[in-house]
Amino acid sequence: MRLTFAGAAGTVTGSCFYLEAGGQRVVVDCGMFQGLPEMEERNQTPFPFDPHEVDWVLLTHGHLDHLGLIPRLVREGFHGQGACTLPTWDIAHVMLMDAARIQEEEGEAALYTAADAVAALDMFQTRLEYGEELCLNGDVRVRFHDAGHILGAAFVEIQAEGKTVVFSGDLGNRGKPLVEDPAYPPKADVVVLESTYGDREHPPVEESVVELRQVIVDTLAGGGNVVIPSFALERTQEVLYLLFRLWREGGIPACPIYLDSPLATHATRIFERYTERFPAPARRLFRKREDPFDFELLEYTLTRQASKRIGEDGPAVIIAGSGMCTGGRILYHLRDNLPRPESALVFVGYQAVGTLGREIEDGASRVEVLGSIVPVQASIHKIEGLSAHADAPILLDWALHADPDQVYLVHGEPPAFGALASQLSRHGCRTHTAEWHETVTL
Ligand SMILES: [Zn+2]
Repeated sequence: MRLTFAGAAGTVTGSCFYLEAGGQRVVVDCGMFQGLPEMEERNQTPFPFDPHEVDWVLLTHGHLDHLGLIPRLVREGFHGQGACTLPTWDIAHVMLMDAARIQEEEGEAALYTAADAVAALDMFQTRLEYGEELCLNGDVRVRFHDAGHILGAAFVEIQAEGKTVVFSGDLGNRGKPLVEDPAYPPKADVVVLESTYGDREHPPVEESVVELRQVIVDTLAGGGNVVIPSFALERTQEVLYLLFRLWREGGIPACPIYLDSPLATHATRIFERYTERFPAPARRLFRKREDPFDFELLEYTLTRQASKRIGEDGPAVIIAGSGMCTGGRILYHLRDNLPRPESALVFVGYQAVGTLGREIEDGASRVEVLGSIVPVQASIHKIEGLSAHADAPILLDWALHADPDQVYLVHGEPPAFGALASQLSRHGCRTHTAEWHETVTL
């Protein structure tokens, strides 16, 4: 059995693993590299395997850094089969068509077209429920389990040649409103483990809700806007759910709340189809026909004109993408609000190295937005407990549960995987930090 780390090795983006086992060639995720220009250049690099020879692509979840290069894989000859969960397939559709639209704007440099994205989606004919077994040819057995990361997210168990290999995908945090806690893995010989927050401990979710409430109350009272850069998937829906809850409990005043992101709006429509998969409190709320995705304060601004009118009705909460401020309508809100000391910018998600979000988070006093230099005078807040990623204690507990002989650390930056590696070693696990395009024999 051989495993090649085709992405997310020494970095958090570009997840892609190539496993040759039991006569099958399996790709687990095929995501886009994001962040620094030298990272994005990797999207053009030839795959360290022949796409023609790949039998299966197993997709853990719908984030772009896990699926964004699947259309390129198809363009370069992949003609096998794909498997993912039902919600992931719905999400993949929205994400890939959006990614293809952005690619087509790149002209010559486009990695793929909308036609490639459609072809890629057509490959995913197998939709798995958590726990259901899929038999690939050649006695390779696959199971998806609930990763508790975003709607439909899975970690993958593969049994072949008498061994069990588990790919964590992205593991979720605990106590989140719209996803269950991550399930525990089975006993495994090898675990390929994400390490995004391998050096951190998140505060509890409820503490973060209190923080969010305070920023909103203070900022609105001072006449400023609360600007929240948000990932279209899960984080946006969670923020809407929390804002709805805070408003219903009298925790925040009635104020306009705008979701200024067509992509997040489409994603929210998908979430509405899967409310029965939410944890019990959220499920009960939706059953009572109380709808955090459609309440009187909330406006979806689908058109540019509607987007431009934001702010006309006084201080507001504005949620927009992209989540790391690398593009999208958030840029207009940053341009307008960063110079205003009365406004607040609230980060609720991970900001990768090299992104505008990270630059602001790290305390830049001025930044370039839409071609102009803008002073950062708004207050900057970082709310960590809403993270969709497991923190160090959860990662450690989860990995030790599999009692593995070997852990390969992926999907992290140096301080994070370093800290996690030493924790795992202390518990007697053999660890190895994967290098990009490295191949190991299992
Ligand atoms: Zn993810």
